[in-house]
Amino acid sequence: MTDFDLVLRGGHVVTDRSVEIADLGIRHGIITAVTPGLSGSAADEIDATALTVFPGGIDPHVHFDEPGRIEWEGLRAGTRALAAGGYTSYVDMPLNCVPPTIDERSLELKLAAAQRESLLDYAVWGGLVPGNRAELARLAKRGVAGFKAFLCDGGLADFPGVDDFTLYDGMQRIAELDSILLVHAENNAIVAGLAQRAIKAGAVGARDFVASRPPIAEVEAIARALLFAEETGCRLHVVHVSTVRGVQLVADAYARGVDVSCETCPHYLLFTDEDVEAAGVSLKSSPPVRSTREREGLWKLLDDGILGIVASDHSPGAPELRIGDDFFAVWGGVSGCQSTRQLLLAEGYARRGIDLPTIACATSTNVAERFRLPRKGRVAVGYDADLAVVDLGQEWTLAAAELHYRHRVSAYVGQRVRGRVVRTLVRGRTVFADGRFGEPGAGRLLVPPV
Ligand SMILES: [Zn+2]
Repeated sequence: MTDFDLVLRGGHVVTDRSVEIADLGIRHGIITAVTPGLSGSAADEIDATALTVFPGGIDPHVHFDEPGRIEWEGLRAGTRALAAGGYTSYVDMPLNCVPPTIDERSLELKLAAAQRESLLDYAVWGGLVPGNRAELARLAKRGVAGFKAFLCDGGLADFPGVDDFTLYDGMQRIAELDSILLVHAENNAIVAGLAQRAIKAGAVGARDFVASRPPIAEVEAIARALLFAEETGCRLHVVHVSTVRGVQLVADAYARGVDVSCETCPHYLLFTDEDVEAAGVSLKSSPPVRSTREREGLWKLLDDGILGIVASDHSPGAPELRIGDDFFAVWGGVSGCQSTRQLLLAEGYARRGIDLPTIACATSTNVAERFRLPRKGRVAVGYDADLAVVDLGQEWTLAAAELHYRHRVSAYVGQRVRGRVVRTLVRGRTVFADGRFGEPGAGRLLVPPV
């Protein structure tokens, strides 16, 4: 009998505080030793000298559209893309799949699909929609990591946004269940009113769309959700925050004891409203990308550790729905789950001097802690051996040909990325190396402890 199933030798190991050269000992999929000069016998060894070992990335915001819309993306393609980008787990959104994950029956369908197709470990968000209050406890019991609600219309008839009563009442229920609510925060009346006016005037270009979703729509909706969170005691997470003021509201509420967090996405860090026209529909997002001032402010909040999570909001859609001159009518969403960390390494680490632990926390450690994903998010003894072995010296321009999405389209094509992923391991098992992937269906469901 050997001491370890696998030893990873000599890598620069990124923790939440430091980067140190160490060997990793792995047994039964768990990290059992992190130390320089590790002794003991091993069934297998990997030389990681001169490479950097990150905790496997965890993307809490992807739309893999399965079951029901695998012509948009699908779990097999989506999880391969994540693995190629050094990611080892993710949490899938409850909408864009058919049926949406808003009751027990639809959850069973999603879990069956993930069990069959997912290369990586996974958790699942349930939906909070008008009328499904009675399902929330059943969804929580079956293992959803939390719930997602739209405070505006999300464009899907089968996943309507919540009115204030549904939000307030649902948050009371989710607090009782000790679960968490994720909100897409935009004021529906403002964005719908401005959209209607623009469309009526025939002003339907990319800039008109951006102008129809102003920062105040996001800021007001965040403030309202925070009030409800404070009142109900419901844990709250605001997805894809695009403004400094939005993050600041969350940080201020957190400081006075509200259990709240937020995320931003790479598109808010890399692009501005000046870019949307040229990029076209691949950069159509709600909320839209903002001014240079907002973008720079978000980088500072990330660097300061106030903005703790960066998620992709990978949301592809079918190509035929994304053609046309009416920017309001074409299906939006940014594809990007493969490149999140590599974009941060190029623009954040190499260009702006943000340290590696901050990037590891934003793409893994903080995600696991916030959403209570057991044994995930750290290169440390007792944690799952979910690792990304990266050549940090390599930087290149992202090309469509290297994307593993069902549709090789992304707003990030042409952007600088850094840190070639040499190998990705989930629980000590290699799921990506040398351009090859492990078998689908090897992933496990992650259930937050209750
Ligand atoms: Zn989303």
